[in-house]
Amino acid sequence: MNIKSNYDFLLSDLTALKGVGDKTTSLLKKKKINNIFDLLWKLPKSYTDRSLSSKIEDLKIGDNQTIKVIPQKYSFPRVKNLPNRVLCTDESGEIECVFFNSFEGYIRKILPLGKEITVSGKIGYFKKRYQITNPKYISEDSSFIKQKHNTYSLTEGISEKIYNKIINQIIDKLPILDEWHSNKILNNFENISWNNAIKELHKAENIGKYKESFYQRLAFDEIFSTFLVNSEIRKKIKKVKKKNKNINLDKQIEMIHKLDFSLTNDQKIVLEEINKDLCSSNKMFRLLQGDVGSGKTIVSLLAAQNTINSGFQVAFMAPTEILARQHFHLAKKIFPKKTNIEFISGKSSYSDRKKIHNKLLKYEIDMIFGTHAIFQKKVIFKNLGLIIIDEQHKFGVNQRKKLSDKGGNNCDVLLMTATPIPRTLTMTIYGDMDLSIIREKPKARKLVKTYSKLESKIDDVIKFIKKEIENDNQIFWVCPLIEESKKIDHSSAVKKFEFLKKIFPNQVGLLHGKTDNEKKESILNKFLNKNFKILVSTTIIEVGIDFPNANVIIIENANKFGLSQLHQLRGRVGRGNKESSCILMFKSNLSENAKKRINILKESNDGFYISEEDMKIRGFGDVLGFKQSGIKNFKLADPIHNSNLFILAEKEMRRIENSKEDISKFKTLVKLYDRADIINDIA
Ligand code: ADP
Ligand code: MG
Repeated sequence: MNIKSNYDFLLSDLTALKGVGDKTTSLLKKKKINNIFDLLWKLPKSYTDRSLSSKIEDLKIGDNQTIKVIPQKYSFPRVKNLPNRVLCTDESGEIECVFFNSFEGYIRKILPLGKEITVSGKIGYFKKRYQITNPKYISEDSSFIKQKHNTYSLTEGISEKIYNKIINQIIDKLPILDEWHSNKILNNFENISWNNAIKELHKAENIGKYKESFYQRLAFDEIFSTFLVNSEIRKKIKKVKKKNKNINLDKQIEMIHKLDFSLTNDQKIVLEEINKDLCSSNKMFRLLQGDVGSGKTIVSLLAAQNTINSGFQVAFMAPTEILARQHFHLAKKIFPKKTNIEFISGKSSYSDRKKIHNKLLKYEIDMIFGTHAIFQKKVIFKNLGLIIIDEQHKFGVNQRKKLSDKGGNNCDVLLMTATPIPRTLTMTIYGDMDLSIIREKPKARKLVKTYSKLESKIDDVIKFIKKEIENDNQIFWVCPLIEESKKIDHSSAVKKFEFLKKIFPNQVGLLHGKTDNEKKESILNKFLNKNFKILVSTTIIEVGIDFPNANVIIIENANKFGLSQLHQLRGRVGRGNKESSCILMFKSNLSENAKKRINILKESNDGFYISEEDMKIRGFGDVLGFKQSGIKNFKLADPIHNSNLFILAEKEMRRIENSKEDISKFKTLVKLYDRADIINDIA
């Protein structure tokens, strides 16, 4: 047989199945089931065993059961609301079949007196007699029901019968695929083939057997396929040849000496990793992952200076102007005077922008800071050698791929994120990039003290704030959006603003989702310049910005946030050298679960640890909104329960990468499980 046709069936349209017409197809498509392969993951929820025949005396009330009986007597009362009944017997007792809404003629036909009939349904008991109301499978031929019927969640408007019919068809025609895994990997799963594993998966009696080999193998396939595709993207980008940079270490040391701190070990290691990439003749595509306040900016600026010294231009993009500007000012402070750096803003006048565009083209600017405005088509670089992008953890794989093409072949790419993610998710979310991690925080950093407080004790909080303000400190006051999904309801923030304004006249500012960008910027700047003391906001306080003078953050309704989100918010303070505090406020007494969460935050300041715990509590899809970022949703695999499989998959992927093994044997796997445009490049 032609190998291709082997899996073609699985990728066929649903209409290839008997009994599937346009109506069913469109219902399934609504559920994102577009082809036969997609249907493989529609799993039974429970099952009814119709193969078991019982005697009447052995029937269990409340169960679905199947029995052979002989109809003995009809009762057709012909009174509204009274059901038609048929008394049936076997050698052990009596049972009544009760019909609402069925006509006499039909009943006489399906339950003829004196003949042995198989009926099935839920067993009831009424007036000292067993009964089945509206029995389901009624037939003179008992052989056809010698099977188990799976039940499915039926929200799609497709009946159980149809599901059974179409899924049974698929299982019958399920192709035997050439094995893609090595024997060593298969040994982990009792050598079960893909084909057999799918068959086991659909057996109703296997529902919930997540630890069995068939399930584990299929979960592994899913994970491994994702990793392999990511690895291929990474390899492809890295294959791009570029003009390498030369690092002048003396100049680097000179700049480090000018800082008023020394680099942490992790900062040094990461800088070296980046430098190595810059010097290589392959394009860099690297993610720098580090907790809030771990000091990523300085690392990226050192790399930028190295690139500039080597004769290239650098572009630095941040999600907001204010953050871009802060980085720009830092660079101005620490870069040698002769380095030409510029800031481009969406607000810059047309002529200013034009000037900058011209200078970039003439290589009169070494480095430019800005928001995504720096990547507009009009902006052309003479010799761009490095793009740095700050705080863009929500870019999906596809966006990142586009980005890596943007600067042209000679341009290295460094992304930075302050969103630590659980270890098991790293390859899933960031597997297309090389990864550098800063775990360590600068030593001088004081831990943010974390407290929990009932909302009714707000007076204590106000007293505390008063003292802080007397000491010339500043405060963030965070109110959650009441309806997170709508991103608009900021009434709680407005109310709190009005409330605090009365106590602290002229000292309170307000920021929420409806504040326009320009106003937002000016409020943040005023806060940075200490023009007022308390900033009330919804959760939009920009990530990344240094507010060295803010040392208290109050988070209202703290149970509305996930752990990682609370940790991120807490990271807004404690960046200077003052003692700082985070006060989590709650509406009512804490549940055990909430107490556990608070304790995790109180105990730890490690974003990586907290993200692991957050994932355990909330499930991985919800961790920091990665669901929206286009990361893959696994059908079977679960990073919490299958962490061993994620580790195994990564190990196997690395082994294959290192051994340069031919990966064409994975073509079917990748074709079935992943995106087609990547697959075409494989093999
Ligand atoms: P993030 O990793 O969250 O982007 P930043 O780069 O903004 O963190 O750094 C946070 C603060 O820590 C800045 O004020 C920065 O000057 C300071 N910092 C960075 N590295 C060190 C270090 N090694 N020792 C002390 N302070 C540092
Ligand atoms: Mg930062």
